[in-house]
Amino acid sequence: MKLYNIALIPGDGIGKEVIPAGQKILQTLGELEPHLSFECSVFDWGGDYYRLHHKMMPEDGLHQLKGMDAILFGSAGDPDIADHITLWGLRLKICQGFDQYANVRPTRILPGIDSPLKLKHDGDLDWVIVRENSEGEYSGVGGRVHTGHPIEVATDVSMMTRTGVQRIMRYAFRLAQSRAKKHLTVVTKSNAQRHAMVMWDEIAAEVGSEFPDVRWEKELVDAATARMVNRPQTLDTMVATNLHADILSDLAAALAGSLGIAPTGNIDPEKRYPSMFEPIHGSAFDIMGKGWANPIGTFWSCVMMLEHLNELKAAERLMKAIEHVTAQKQYHTRDLAGVATTSQVTQAVIEALGHVG
Ligand code: ATP
Repeated sequence: MKLYNIALIPGDGIGKEVIPAGQKILQTLGELEPHLSFECSVFDWGGDYYRLHHKMMPEDGLHQLKGMDAILFGSAGDPDIADHITLWGLRLKICQGFDQYANVRPTRILPGIDSPLKLKHDGDLDWVIVRENSEGEYSGVGGRVHTGHPIEVATDVSMMTRTGVQRIMRYAFRLAQSRAKKHLTVVTKSNAQRHAMVMWDEIAAEVGSEFPDVRWEKELVDAATARMVNRPQTLDTMVATNLHADILSDLAAALAGSLGIAPTGNIDPEKRYPSMFEPIHGSAFDIMGKGWANPIGTFWSCVMMLEHLNELKAAERLMKAIEHVTAQKQYHTRDLAGVATTSQVTQAVIEALGHVG
């Protein structure tokens, strides 16, 4: 019997609705798979915690999480607290504190879901975007002086290190190598940014030579957006900087039907620390408390978590159950133009888990 300790951080807004749904799924899997069990601990960090304690998580928060096998995260965002505080005070603190340098975002059109693209074949859109998650444009290097005066200056410096680029390229090439097409697109902007992005390209070529069986190419980020829309079947695995991949993966999620479906993993590939899995959507205060939140992004994040824990059979079982449910329009939530509620979708996936195993 393998017991996994999972940290649940619902955070804010609909995070408080989708993470309890995810917990139910993990519990059900624990009941169905004889060798598996999950011990879930809930951490009440986020906007409400900030109102009480003037910080998003306690000082020793990382220490509390360190012994966990994985983290399932909801969202951080609050209408009364500045976005940079909610982001840097919780999610980024965990990502950076645990050196989760690879952010991985699979995109596929699940059965029953309509894409805004007119795709010719099933499988025409099947991507994984690898986002550099520890430096680049979001490294936090910069400053602001003379605030409010005409001479005010503010900088955000995009910082790239050889080690940081090498490790994300190696991760991306290895991932591309594990997929059927063995194809990697290195997204860049080295025509306009002639220092760090040129180093990015050079390191891609160096690492690429270690993977002779992976076909790879460079693509400028602006051209990549058009290619994702016009020729989605020509892409497979993509690797991009923190900012570029942030934008491309929201585009990917929209092309796959809804922000409510897409999952992501913030991964420490060396497994020194727990990795963190989360739906890519935010706190969505406009629909909070109404029971309309689509929990599929969270369930798919649980699949990624199980894969990371090497529980491949359970991961496959959950993915099959998710696809069985998305195929039925009666279980589509409002973001997919349906009327189903979070709890109806959750119940349907729980029932499907019982018969897809
Ligand atoms: P944040 O500021 O925390 O990033 P946000 O509310 O600005 O959050 P998102 O939550 O990412 O942005 O999503 C934008 C909109 O998409 C939401 O306002 C909501 O209407 C819809 N949406 C997002 N996620 C879901 C979901 N899981 N189910 C249903 N609708 C969703």
